[in-house]
Amino acid sequence: MTRSQTPAAASAKDFGAARTLVFDHAFLPCGWARDVRVTVQDGVISDVAPDAAGTGGERVKGIAIPGLPNLHCHTFQRGMAGLAERRGPSDDSFWTWRDVMYRFLGRLTPDDVEAIAAYAYAEMLERGFTSVGEFHYIHHGADGTPYADLAEMASRIVAAASGTGIGLTLLPAFYAYGGFGAAPAVPGQRRFLNDPDRFLKLVEATRAAAARLPSTVIGIAPHSLRAVTPETLAEVVKATPRGPIHIHIAEQVKEVEDCLAWSGARPVAWLYDHMPVDARWCLIHATHMTGDETRRMAASGGGGRAVPDHRGVARRRHLQRP
Ligand SMILES: [Zn+2]
Repeated sequence: MTRSQTPAAASAKDFGAARTLVFDHAFLPCGWARDVRVTVQDGVISDVAPDAAGTGGERVKGIAIPGLPNLHCHTFQRGMAGLAERRGPSDDSFWTWRDVMYRFLGRLTPDDVEAIAAYAYAEMLERGFTSVGEFHYIHHGADGTPYADLAEMASRIVAAASGTGIGLTLLPAFYAYGGFGAAPAVPGQRRFLNDPDRFLKLVEATRAAAARLPSTVIGIAPHSLRAVTPETLAEVVKATPRGPIHIHIAEQVKEVEDCLAWSGARPVAWLYDHMPVDARWCLIHATHMTGDETRRMAASGGGGRAVPDHRGVARRRHLQRP
């Protein structure tokens, strides 16, 4: 859909009123259909009917497709697009990119986070993304001290989603360590850190913050096997009986090598050996896998998702294609 054709985009002035659009073609569950009438009520599609030529409504010359979900987003990174990438052979890598990312986020206030999120979500909507999975890990103040409201930052994400109209799945990230084997966190990670007890309180506070936007789905996001221990991962998963569970996994070769050194297993294999991975789970990146890991993922009903690494995400955002 183009911006002018998107019911969500058109709804601002029409909110509260019904609007009927008739598209030349639309992609429906049954496939492509002609003369599709889409009725929008209060900003929500209330009816879709094919073969509706001549039944009234605003004719739209073009096609309609369902809104796309943006499965994996750290929306604050929209504000650092272009700061960390270098053209051509150089010494930059995921890890140098991460250093810049840590320096950038160390300066962000709650107002900054909300403004960047609103900007990024508006861009997504303009390009046909109607929902977003926000893998949210800046929880605390710049020195690592929690805000008076543990969900201060989460509430800013909710506010940005509410203000723009994008559908939100909010995934507070559980981040407790700096590397495999409970390695200490570095200063750049202090805004992320929680033990399981405080993290679970943060999730509850996030649910309360999201009450203002009832369509919000709340899950959790153990950040990665680098950022948890087997015990803390099991604790937060067990304490969260519903909602999606997203985790970064096997994104980088070094991450795979470090996991092998720590456990003797590759990250995806380790996860399947130790956690009840099912359809609630979404394995973010899962880039470096063996054939056996791929087969286990396919058999589990758990979701592996091919998401570009974060530098790829940042580059794409620089091109304004989130
Ligand atoms: Zn990510």
